[in-house]
Amino acid sequence: MDKKRVAIVGAGVSGLAACKHLLERGCRPVVFEADTVLGGVWARVSDCTALQTPRPLYQYSDFPWPEAVTEVFPDHRQVMAYLYAYARRFGVLGRVRFGRRVVGMEYHGVGEEDVAAWEEWAGNGEAFGSGYGEWHLTVADDEGHVEIHKAEFVILCIGRFSGVPNIPTFPQGKGPETFDGQVIHSMDYSKMGTKKASEMIKGKRVTIVGYLKSAIDIAAECAIANEPKGFYKRLEEGSIVLKKSKSFSFCKEGVLVEGESSPLKSDIVIFGTGFRGDQKIKKMFRSEYFRSIAVGSTSSTVPLYRECIHPKIPQLAVLGYSESIANLYTSELRAKWLAHFMDGGIRLPSVTAMQNDVLEWEKYMKRYAGRYFRRSCVGLLHIWYNDQLCRDMGCNPRRKKGFFADLFGIYGPRDYAELHPKED
Ligand SMILES: Cc1cc2nc3c(=O)[nH]c(=O)nc-3n(C[C@H](O)[C@H](O)[C@H](O)COP(=O)(O)OP(=O)(O)OC[C@H]3O[C@@H](n4cnc5c(N)ncnc54)[C@H](O)[C@@H]3O)c2cc1C
Repeated sequence: MDKKRVAIVGAGVSGLAACKHLLERGCRPVVFEADTVLGGVWARVSDCTALQTPRPLYQYSDFPWPEAVTEVFPDHRQVMAYLYAYARRFGVLGRVRFGRRVVGMEYHGVGEEDVAAWEEWAGNGEAFGSGYGEWHLTVADDEGHVEIHKAEFVILCIGRFSGVPNIPTFPQGKGPETFDGQVIHSMDYSKMGTKKASEMIKGKRVTIVGYLKSAIDIAAECAIANEPKGFYKRLEEGSIVLKKSKSFSFCKEGVLVEGESSPLKSDIVIFGTGFRGDQKIKKMFRSEYFRSIAVGSTSSTVPLYRECIHPKIPQLAVLGYSESIANLYTSELRAKWLAHFMDGGIRLPSVTAMQNDVLEWEKYMKRYAGRYFRRSCVGLLHIWYNDQLCRDMGCNPRRKKGFFADLFGIYGPRDYAELHPKED
């Protein structure tokens, strides 16, 4: 693999892992990172953001947190320091080209009709295909200069919780345009930085839409900015109000919650409504053909075999789209699997077999996640999923020492530290 040209897009948790595992196999990938720093989402979060996953589950298998970090849920600064240390330790930092955004990609060398007809992935079931096809990446720097970078394999590690915000839609006359105040997405709030953000919310009536991580973090910051005694006290006294509602709309003074007659008077409305990670993947492709197949349809999951290989898109992998209970170590194990595959250690099944496998997972995700199946969460079957990757790599999925430990012990990153894929 040492002579192969590989491009990784993104230097977050997933991109770092992908680069580390390729370096270990003699490949010298180029990592394009749009930002000026690594760390992905951890580089641009609101000030009080910390891990929600306990620290022992959010670490690379062979790189424990430093002893000085004792918090169960380290904050975002500690996560950033940890990721920088990892990137330095394994020589990843030197491979990253910061301030380089990949604005589009095209597959050259083989016509789309031929690609669409392939029964084996990339024509022959191998990572780099038959040697004719390659990706041309259009890479832009901060000053707008553009270059074309050619790669025989691309790993998209562009994340799903950033970039393209998920903004609710409203009937005519009931959207943000009718509101006298300011409307922003959590992404813009996080980008502002602590000082500007707290100036903006100080003394204001803020309505936050959403109830997951970003929304709750911003609500806590509103409480801190306005009265440092905190979130729970403000809840008790009623200056933070929680409302449950299936829908809402805007009016001149603020937000109208379904079923209520008077509006929630607001100066600022912040959408903590998440992101469209699927659209981010789709937009990477220039060709209509790849765009039309890249992320499936609204009634299917994003079709990725082993949650990283699209059965019909050659010489490309996606890392970090599918969620789990602890995303870092899932990305790491996938990166290990991917490096082994790219090094010739795994032969992919036929395109049809991979598509059928994707459909099996889709059934599970629909049953388990209901209307949220597009998140492609391996969640409850996380260990089972890891077992699949281990078997593909020719490794024993039972990672613990002893029958009872394996039966009752909780699996975590450290169980995979000694996982060394078997060479054919
Ligand atoms: C607030 C918050 C808290 C979270 N907490 C947890 C947690 O506690 N536990 C957990 O398991 N997960 C958590 N997550 C999920 C988190 O997204 C993952 O854990 C992980 O950090 C994702 O890493 P990633 O590398 O896949 O993606 P990202 O971190 O999103 O990194 C993607 C990188 O790609 C770059 N990029 C994107 N597009 C391009 C392009 N076109 N060209 C070049 N570069 C590009 C971006 O700049 C970015 O650096 C949290 C997410 C958020 C937003």
